[in-house]
Amino acid sequence: MSNADHSVGRALDMDAQDSLALYRSQFYLPAPNGEPQSYFCGHSLGLQPRWAREYVLEELREWETLGVEGHFRSARPWLSYHERLTPHLALLVGAHPAEVVAMNSLTVNLHLLLASFYRPTPERHKVLIERSAFPSDRYAVVSQLRWHGFDDSALIEIGPRDGESCLREDDIAAALDRDGPSIAAVLLPGVQYLTGQRFNLQQIAALAKQKGCMVGFDLAHAIGNVPLDLHDWNADFAVWCSYKYLNGGPGAIGGAFVHQRHHRDASLPRLAGWWGHDAHSRFAMPDKYVPIAGAEAWQLSNPPILAAAPLLASLELFAQAGIPALRAKSIALTAYLEQLLRERALNRTTLLTPSDQDARGAQLSLRLNVERQRAKSIYEQLAARGFICDWREPDIMRIAPVPFYNTYKEVWLLVDSLLGIMN
Ligand SMILES: *Cc1c(COP(=O)(O)O)cnc(C)c1O
Repeated sequence: MSNADHSVGRALDMDAQDSLALYRSQFYLPAPNGEPQSYFCGHSLGLQPRWAREYVLEELREWETLGVEGHFRSARPWLSYHERLTPHLALLVGAHPAEVVAMNSLTVNLHLLLASFYRPTPERHKVLIERSAFPSDRYAVVSQLRWHGFDDSALIEIGPRDGESCLREDDIAAALDRDGPSIAAVLLPGVQYLTGQRFNLQQIAALAKQKGCMVGFDLAHAIGNVPLDLHDWNADFAVWCSYKYLNGGPGAIGGAFVHQRHHRDASLPRLAGWWGHDAHSRFAMPDKYVPIAGAEAWQLSNPPILAAAPLLASLELFAQAGIPALRAKSIALTAYLEQLLRERALNRTTLLTPSDQDARGAQLSLRLNVERQRAKSIYEQLAARGFICDWREPDIMRIAPVPFYNTYKEVWLLVDSLLGIMN
């Protein structure tokens, strides 16, 4: 994509050839002022699938008409409702169905899995994270260290080199090489929330396992965005939320992955609840806890059906469209945004996200090459014109063209408006 046709006509042509174009009509596009917005914020809160409302209303109707019997007799019985999400999630993260479960929210799941997989000893008690980790992950890890009687000195944080925006894979490898024997657990993101950098999870997992570390991934910005293959990559565990690229709605039910090799390990400590107990004898209410053989063993409570219904509606769209097609469009859409920024906006923006398509997902993060207050005002003017991106202090704009509902024309208009405001 470097033959320089920057016309809107080219964007329209690409939209006309887009085999996923029809999916846009499957989502509600916010239109607070009457005109649909150009919504580039799917990295924060994905848009509402049209079927989400129907799926929620259906459960409200079942509750209304069946009461407690809805657990067994509704069209999608609540008792096993979460299982309907499982095959979809397994496909999205590249896992066997028994390795995934929809439950809780991301940070809760992170704690539950660290309770099992962060098992420090005096010689091996450190945790490796990245320096600009999402704050919740850092808080969770530091509180786990304290819970086990350690302090922040047990935290190893690796970051980009001076003057660089992304973390080098070589530096992750070097940290594991250097400190591996003292590291109990590695926790890294699939896609970095601030820079949009995608990590080579296969390589990280292989190195971490070589060094005898447990390795877990935070997939908040990766699931539904980039292809994943957790089982084959040999990750020990992973967690995610469902309201970003998965379009599950605010506070949607999150998810977790536990590799099959851990399913029958009776020595693993676990914070248990009745929903993790063997489903066949759960209602016999036995005293003795018998865990389900799989990721479902980490469930504590019966799941929130009303927070699962919108996710089911969205996951059915993922199943229809397919990850390969979504990823192919995502790569092209983001490359188009990058191309327009580079060639039309020349030196007015600095890209923080890697240019290598394999080292990123949908999102581009950038700085506007103007003074910070002016940059923020440009971002606000874009929003006032209906271009919804996101601003991270002090000066980062995050733009995610989402293959389900964004168009090439919107990308073109975004860059055109940005230039119009900056000129
Ligand atoms: C969005 C996000 C979270 C959110 O955590 P919740 O527990 O769902 O509130 C956590 N970690 C990362 C990396 C995120 O991007």
